[in-house]
Amino acid sequence: MKQINLIITITALILFSSGCAKKDHDHGHSHHGHSHDGHSHNTPKKDPGPNGGRILKTMTPALEFFVLEDRRVQITALNDLKPIPVNEQTATLTGGDRNNPTTLEFAKDGDVLISDKPLPTGNNIPVILQVTNSPGTTPVMEKIQVNFSGCPTCDYREYACICNHQHGHQDYHGDHKHN
Ligand SMILES: [Zn+2]
Repeated sequence: MKQINLIITITALILFSSGCAKKDHDHGHSHHGHSHDGHSHNTPKKDPGPNGGRILKTMTPALEFFVLEDRRVQITALNDLKPIPVNEQTATLTGGDRNNPTTLEFAKDGDVLISDKPLPTGNNIPVILQVTNSPGTTPVMEKIQVNFSGCPTCDYREYACICNHQHGHQDYHGDHKHN
């Protein structure tokens, strides 16, 4: 994974510097006072999923949780952030109205798992995904807040956001409650 990041970084640097060299006369003014480089080194980002979904690292193998255009959920198994065929995994997702939750079952479709129906309505819905790696093993549960809003600071939707900006302080200040 680190190696891939390094390669991407190097590629980006090469592209960036060659782009600059060629177009230097066009945008020479933007080289100074532009703090992007220094800033991005101090802001580690999460890895984006190969389809633009959220990576679930608590699962082994890691999985990508991705919502398709029709709101069905696609689960992709990952090895080093690259898709690998799902094996014996089965998954169930529960979400939506707590009094009348919707349950989605997943079936293998080619190399991925696809839910049998779309997510319940709503633009920001809490769901619980339960994945069983193979028959007889303990399921792993993951709570996911499926927020379809576009993140203001990265190119992904909030549920798959890769920046470390804080969402309602839940991730960073969960241990001191405001009573
Ligand atoms: Zn973001």
